[in-house]
Amino acid sequence: MGLREEYNFEYLVNESERLVVESLEKQLAQEENQNVCRCQDCILDMIALALNKVKPHYRVSLIGTLYAHALDHTKYADEVDKAVQGALEKIGENPSCSG
Ligand SMILES: [Zn+2]
Repeated sequence: MGLREEYNFEYLVNESERLVVESLEKQLAQEENQNVCRCQDCILDMIALALNKVKPHYRVSLIGTLYAHALDHTKYADEVDKAVQGALEKIGENPSCSG
């Protein structure tokens, strides 16, 4: 018997992933990042890089999205922004797809 079959893992929410994706969307829209490659490889690599830099932040959500945005505008969100910025610079200079 597998835990994943027996329990509903949809209640397990990866907050850091949500914040990283939102931050990346925001930063990709900025003027200075217009030349960064947006192919599948590069985008997912940027997300993975940034996620590996920040402390994981999972939560269990049995009551929907009540606290979904509790981490926005916190010190943790700042760390996420910095990690995403670092990933953008790294992949921007050295795109994953041109290796
Ligand atoms: Zn690319």
